[in-house]
Parts: sequence; C-alpha cells; structure tokens
Amino acid sequence: MKKAKKKREIQFIKSVLHDVKDYELISPATMIQTFNLTKVYNITEGIEIRALNGVSIDIKKGEFVSVMGPSGSGKTTLLNMIGALDNPTSGVVYINRTNIAHMNDIQRTNLRLKEIGFIFQFYNLVPVLSAYENVELPMLFAGRTKREIERNVNKFLDLVGLSEKKDHLPSELSGGEQQRVAIARALCNEPSILIADEPTGELDSKMGMEIIKLLRELNLELNQTILMVTHDPMVGALAERMLKMRDGKIIETVITNN
Ligand code: ADP
Ligand code: MG
Repeated sequence: MKKAKKKREIQFIKSVLHDVKDYELISPATMIQTFNLTKVYNITEGIEIRALNGVSIDIKKGEFVSVMGPSGSGKTTLLNMIGALDNPTSGVVYINRTNIAHMNDIQRTNLRLKEIGFIFQFYNLVPVLSAYENVELPMLFAGRTKREIERNVNKFLDLVGLSEKKDHLPSELSGGEQQRVAIARALCNEPSILIADEPTGELDSKMGMEIIKLLRELNLELNQTILMVTHDPMVGALAERMLKMRDGKIIETVITNN
C-alpha cells in the first residue's frame, strides 16, 4: 500500500519535471505545439487506420493557420487531438506550453470551455433557442456572471453583425447568419484559440469568403489563434500559413502574404 503511494508520488514528480523541462523548451510565443502525433483507429481485429502519422506543428499566439488536404487525410482527427476532444495514440500536444495529457478532468473541461472556441461545418446550433440564447449557452456552462453574459453576448452578436436578429431562431436565419451565430458562440468566453472544421463547407462561395474575412478581422482585433480546416483553396489562402495534409502527415507548409 505504502509502496504504491510512493510509486504514484514518484510518477507525479517525474511528470511535473517533464513538463517543467518542456515548458522551458517551448517558446512563450507558441500557442499550440504538437510533437510526432499519431492516431491509430482499430477498425476490426487486425485492421488499423493510421489517421495521423507523425504530425509536429508549432502555431504562434495570434497566428491564423489553415489546414488543407483531401477527405480522409486526417484534418478532423488533428483538430480533435488539439481541442482535447480525443486522445492521441502517441505523441504530445501542448496548449500554451502545457501538456494536455497531464491535465485532470476538470482542467481539460476548463480548457475546452474557456480556452478553446469550436466552430463546425453544420453550425450545431440548438434549434429551439434564439441566436442570443445559443451564444449565451457556453457562458452559462462556464459560470460567468449575469452581467458578463449580457455584455459579451451583445458584444459578439454585434461584432458578427447580428444584433438585430438576436431573437431569431436558427431556422429563421440563413446559413451564413447561422454560422455567424456559431462564431459569436465560439468567441463569447473569450478563448485564446479558435478551432474551425470546414466552417464554410455548407455556404456558397461568396458567403464563405465573407465568413473567413470576418474570422480574419476578429483574429486581428482580438489576437486569437485560429486553426481552420478547409478543403477550399480560396478559403485556405486567406490564412497566414497553410498546412497541407495527406495520409495523416503534413506534406507542405505555405506562407501566404496575409
Ligand atoms: P478528414 O477530416 O481529413 O476528412 P478524418 O480525420 O476525419 O479526415 O479521418 C482520417 C481517417 O481516419 C479516415 O480514413 C477516417 O475514415 C478515419 N477515421 C476518423 N475517425 C474515425 C473513427 N472514429 N474510427 C475509425 N476511423 C476513423
Ligand atoms: Mg474532416
């Protein structure tokens, strides 16, 4: 019994020391860092899919990065690992210089709720709630005060240009407007990172470009770090840096002039 406790203590100290060492290695300017990330799905006995096959990336604070690649290349899997929605098979993810594998459940929940905002292809709004109530939801979960909630919901609905439609249900809004609500919802807890998976996938190209331009404006104004997956080259090119993926690997990095 005593021995087990001692072993746990030693393990804990080792993990902390490991983090301290890494903490010093990673630049304070880095927001997201992964080392040799792999994810293997076991479909059935003996059949494996290597969705990620050694991904090492380094994203600076305030940077706007797009991830491009054909369907099945591992883009969503990469976002899931970085957003702490799933665990990698091997490799490490650091968010703001902290190894997320060493976080306890409460720390992980807080990370997802307060530090990371998610935007999805299909908006994922609650159909029976108004635009205002949809944006308010993550703030209620995060236990923010009534005053903060009112201030931020109005502020971000205003920033995405939807103040006048705050009482509308999602079904009473266009696709582009619904995605604007989803962006306001992702921003309302003022996360340091915004993760977007094919945010323009359901929009026509004009509306899609408008949404990305809005994201870029918000990125410059609020200095959030944005990691966005898209298969549309026009959309991907609006980021400062494009990472091209194929077969679970980053095969090319393109710096744009944005
Ligand atoms: P992308 O987003 O680039 O289209 P994904 O990351 O969704 O690609 O998928 C990468 C590969 O992993 C694909 O071959 C996909 O079928 C597989 N995959 C993704 N999620 C799962 C899962 N939960 N179980 C089994 N295989 C999966
Ligand atoms: Mg995907």
